[in-house]
Amino acid sequence: MSRLPNSLEARDIAYHLHSYTDARKHEETGPLVIERGEGVHVYDNNGKRYIEGMAGLWSVALGFGEKRLAEAAARQMEKLPYYHTFAHKSHGPSVELAEKLVAMAPVPMSKAYFTNSGSEANDTAIKMIWYRANAMGEPQRKKIISRVKGYHGVTLASASLTGLPNNHRSFDLPLAGILHTTCPHYRTMKKEGESEAEFAKRCARDLEALIVEEGPETIAAFFAEPVMGAGGVIVPPEGYWEAIQPVLKKYGILFVADEVICGFGRTGELFGSTTYHLEPDIMTLSKQLSSSYLPISALLVNEKVYAPLADESHTIGTWGHGFTGSGHPVAAAVALENLKIMEERDVLGHVREIAPRFLARLQALGGHALAIEARGIGLIGAVEFTHPSLADTPGALGGRIYQAMQDRGLILRNLGDTLAFCPPLVISEKEIDEMFDIAEAALCDVAKGVE
Ligand code: PMP
Repeated sequence: MSRLPNSLEARDIAYHLHSYTDARKHEETGPLVIERGEGVHVYDNNGKRYIEGMAGLWSVALGFGEKRLAEAAARQMEKLPYYHTFAHKSHGPSVELAEKLVAMAPVPMSKAYFTNSGSEANDTAIKMIWYRANAMGEPQRKKIISRVKGYHGVTLASASLTGLPNNHRSFDLPLAGILHTTCPHYRTMKKEGESEAEFAKRCARDLEALIVEEGPETIAAFFAEPVMGAGGVIVPPEGYWEAIQPVLKKYGILFVADEVICGFGRTGELFGSTTYHLEPDIMTLSKQLSSSYLPISALLVNEKVYAPLADESHTIGTWGHGFTGSGHPVAAAVALENLKIMEERDVLGHVREIAPRFLARLQALGGHALAIEARGIGLIGAVEFTHPSLADTPGALGGRIYQAMQDRGLILRNLGDTLAFCPPLVISEKEIDEMFDIAEAALCDVAKGVE
C-alpha cells in the first residue's frame, strides 16, 4: 500500500469510514483502491488485475464497463436528470420499469414501488405490512418472522430481520416483535440420524411452533431469501419450501421473498421464487436490477397487499411514505436498459449453460483437505473451510484464504470461514476456470501455512 501522504490510500485512512470494516485495523492496512473495471475483471490503482468473483456485492450481473448502461444514464441525465414520484407525479422511466417488473413477476403482482437499496425495500415492506394490518382492523398483527442467518439489510428494521449477530451486537437490535426461526442449513443444524427431508419438515414444525407460541393472530409476515446469501450461501434442503409455504397459508401470514440477490437470473431462473415455486405476496428486488450501476430497488406487491393499503391511504388522505430518490429516472432508465440487455443477450440461457461448470469446479474445491462443504445453485456458491489449529478463532482461516486469493488476483468475500462465489452472470467458461484455478492455488498457499 502506498504510504505517500497525498496518496488515495493515506487520504482514505484520514477521511473515510468504511462499511463492514474493522476501523482500527483499516488505519493500519489501508484500502485496496479499485480504479476501473472491464467484464469480470477490476483493476487496482497499481494496475493489478483481479477477477471480481463476487460481482461487487452479488450484484454486477452484466460485468463492468457496459457502455450501453453508461449511455442510457447519460441520455436520461440530459433529458430529465431528476424528478420524484410524490403527490401524483410520474415520469417515463418509472412507469416503464414498474410495468416491466409487474410483467416479469413469477406470480400475479399488482404494483411496483421504488426504493434505493435492499434495506430500504425491506424496511418499506415492513411499513406496508403494519399499515395494512391497521387498515384491516388487525392492529395486533405486527410481528414479523425471519430466519437465523437470513440477510435483509442494515437499516433499523431490516437489520432486525437480518439474523446475524454482527448486525445486532452493540446496536441494541433486533427491534421488539421481529423474531427468528431455524436456519435451514442441513449440515450444521441436523439432528443425529435426521435425513435432509426430515430436517426440512422439522424447520416447518419449528416455524409453526413459534407462530403458535406467539399467537397466530399476532404474526403478520415471514421474510426469507429463496437462497440465503450473506448468511453463508445456504441452499435450502430438499422439501424445505414445500413444507414452509403451507404453514404460512394455514395462518394467513404474508410471505415476503427477498430476491435482492436471487432476482434476475442468479439461480438459473429469472427469480429464486421461480426456482423454488414460491408464491410471495411481496418481492423485494435490487442489485442485479440495475447491475448496481446506480442504486435502485423495488417492491412488487400483490392485490392482497395493495388493496387495503390503497383504501387506507384514501381514508387518511395519503400513503405517508416515500423517498426523494424513489423511482429516480436515471436509475430507472439504467435498470430498464440492463433488463433489455439481459433479454437481448439471453443472459439467463447463458447462466443455465455454464452453471454446471461453475458448480463442478465449486464441488472440486470442496474436496480440498481444508474444506468441509461446498454448496451452490446456478451461479452462486460457497465453500466452507476448517482446520483444527484455527478452530478457536472463527473466521481466521476464512480471512487467510480470502487474503491469499486476493494476493493472487481473485476478489471473493469471506463470510466467517465460508468463501462465497457469485461472479457476474456474463462470466465465460474460461473465466470460471481461471477463477477456480486461482482459488485452488491460493488454497495450496494457505494449506502450507497451517500444516
Ligand atoms: N437483502 C439481501 C438478500 C441482500 O443480500 C442485501 C445486501 N447484501 C440486502 C437485502 C440489503 O441491500 P442493501 O445493501 O442495498 O441495503
